Amino acid sequence: MKCSHTALMMVLVLALISVACAQVDTRWKVHDPARPKPPVVTPGEYVKQAPPSDAIVLFDGTHMNRWTHEKAKRKQDWSIKDGAMVCGRGSGYLQTKQGFGDCQLHIEWRSPTPAKGDGQSRGNSGVFFGGKRYEVQVLDCYENTTYADGWAGAIYCQNPPKVSPCRPPGEWNVFDIIYRRPRFDDDGKVIKPATLTVFFNNVLVQDHFELGGPTAWKKRPPYKKHEDRLPISLQDHGNPVAFQNIWIRDLEAKAESGN
Ligand code: MG
Repeated sequence: MKCSHTALMMVLVLALISVACAQVDTRWKVHDPARPKPPVVTPGEYVKQAPPSDAIVLFDGTHMNRWTHEKAKRKQDWSIKDGAMVCGRGSGYLQTKQGFGDCQLHIEWRSPTPAKGDGQSRGNSGVFFGGKRYEVQVLDCYENTTYADGWAGAIYCQNPPKVSPCRPPGEWNVFDIIYRRPRFDDDGKVIKPATLTVFFNNVLVQDHFELGGPTAWKKRPPYKKHEDRLPISLQDHGNPVAFQNIWIRDLEAKAESGN
């Protein structure tokens, strides 16, 4: 009996540790400069992946019909250059016309060349879920340093990527992201936090990370109840970051069909 009790306790402790590993580590302040930087990993060669048959193609290089500018008044637009969607300074966020809940997103991004600026000013953009609430950071982190929770592949302000497989400016980087939206009860209480899993150039950098709330600059705000399906947005941070080959699989549609 004693033995099985000890075994049960160990299982519980291990379960708690595994949960703790995937949440915001509050030992570190937001953007803590002392937080260890992710170690550099050289990724394999870039290979363009065609979308699977059940994916919704959000951008194939020819048109932006599935996207809309968030701001009605802006200095300029996002535009298509050489088959890529490029952020124009002052264009504001670009967002999908369709809303998504749980999903698998494939998106490729390229930092401007030659590299300009340092830290957060170099090739900054972001992929947002839940209508600009939850950001996976896009940043030129090739031979560029910044605070760990603002690194490319970070859940911004919450969790650095495990490693940094960033390619040099001018080369394509690939994110494969699994987003699970938060679940709220009728009173707005969080039943299940949002989670993000991120592969960066085929390297796992976020492993089913539980978000503590929306991502933000210099703060970690709490959750506020929101709609289940919201646009996916790309950030205008003033840098001409390019995106291509964007496709998505709607995992809630799959769940609804019983798979
Ligand atoms: Mg950003």
